[in-house]
Amino acid sequence: MQRNVAILGATGSIGASALDVIAQHPDRYRVSALTAGRQWEALLELVERFRPPVAALRDPAAAHHLEDAIRKRGLSTRVLCDAEGLRDVATLPEIDTVIAAIVGAAGLEPTLAAARAGKRILLANKETLVLAGEVFMAAVRDSGAVLLPIDSEHNAIFQCLPHDRTRAPAACGVRRILLTASGGPFRDTPVAELESVTPEQACAHPKWRMGRKISVDSATMMNKGLEVIEAHWLFGVAREAIEVVIHPESVVHSLVEYLDGSVLAQLGNPDMRTPIAQALAWPERISSGVAPLELARIGSLNFFAPDLARFPCLDVAYDALSAGGTAPAILNAANEVAVGAFLERKIGFLDIARACQATMRRLPATPISSLADALDADREARAVARELLNLEQSQQLPA
Ligand code: NAD
Ligand code: MG
Repeated sequence: MQRNVAILGATGSIGASALDVIAQHPDRYRVSALTAGRQWEALLELVERFRPPVAALRDPAAAHHLEDAIRKRGLSTRVLCDAEGLRDVATLPEIDTVIAAIVGAAGLEPTLAAARAGKRILLANKETLVLAGEVFMAAVRDSGAVLLPIDSEHNAIFQCLPHDRTRAPAACGVRRILLTASGGPFRDTPVAELESVTPEQACAHPKWRMGRKISVDSATMMNKGLEVIEAHWLFGVAREAIEVVIHPESVVHSLVEYLDGSVLAQLGNPDMRTPIAQALAWPERISSGVAPLELARIGSLNFFAPDLARFPCLDVAYDALSAGGTAPAILNAANEVAVGAFLERKIGFLDIARACQATMRRLPATPISSLADALDADREARAVARELLNLEQSQQLPA
């Protein structure tokens, strides 16, 4: 059976890796829809190459340019726009698989729409679970959607967990989940120098080529904090049973520890095409184009406990998970505002953690029972973070 795939966030780093795997298996996968934020020229290139029946841009002006260019080239791709257009793409009846690879909170609404429509969802957008984990997981359960994580750590855990998904991991003898983290580009930088590091240094990840936002999150280790929350919702594992371990080689992508002392790990070269291919083909296996892992060449693998003084964002994320309700959404919003400001050189690197902590202190957590609760918390926390960082209040869309 050929699967019809939609990629939300097709022009990004995950989008490129997904299209690379898909292009290797034209007999199995058809690109049925591609979306982006406002990068219409990059999306046009992909439309020319993959000829999807539908394309969508979040930004209406950019969608207009794309539509024009598509018409001039005599292509038949239908162009949708705005938040509604993205939701429509995620729920098109002819699409069975949705790759959720938009960056940030902007990914929540279309990903949730895909869940409600019962799609097979390959989830990269961890922010969906951070903002509205309970609402999203309930939608997946109620609609019978199939949720497959492609964040590399969660994909590793998925592969190491028992096959029986009807029971909670603890009921199947799982004691702990161990999330590995590379430690990012500043693992060994003297803490005193962190105040003045640049966006270029923060984005120069030693092991992974990724979008700028997640690269900065890796440098602060907020990424790992968000992943702890992501793991909690995806697998139904308590905060106390999720641990983070630094592993600079990024070869062991995460581990699951069982009551009997067994620890299962998934290993591979650090290349997102492996988890994407695993999830695309699940429960089968397909090739991904990733080079085989040569353990003898790597030689040794190292593991360390994270230094929380160096990486306060990790601690803040654990606190947000303990506080529950809107706390993770508040944290995520503050982080997105602060990372955006850091990338624009308006604030320093250490201000990111400070802004997150200050926003969390300012806004008490309240329960989340709907999408609207999550979006309200997101909006309010963005305004507070902007105020705390002396930034203008703006509604600008990211790229
Ligand atoms: P990226 O910045 O490279 O790409 C983001 C994509 O989202 C682009 O197509 C962009 O046009 C689109 N987009 C941005 N703002 C939007 C908006 N407001 N509305 C609609 N679309 C918008 O990001 P990435 O590195 O590919 O990461 C995507 C997601 O995957 C993130 O949630 C990230 O945490 C997660 N992830 C990425 C990696 C990786 O290796 N890059 C690994 C694990 C998880
Ligand atoms: Mg990850």
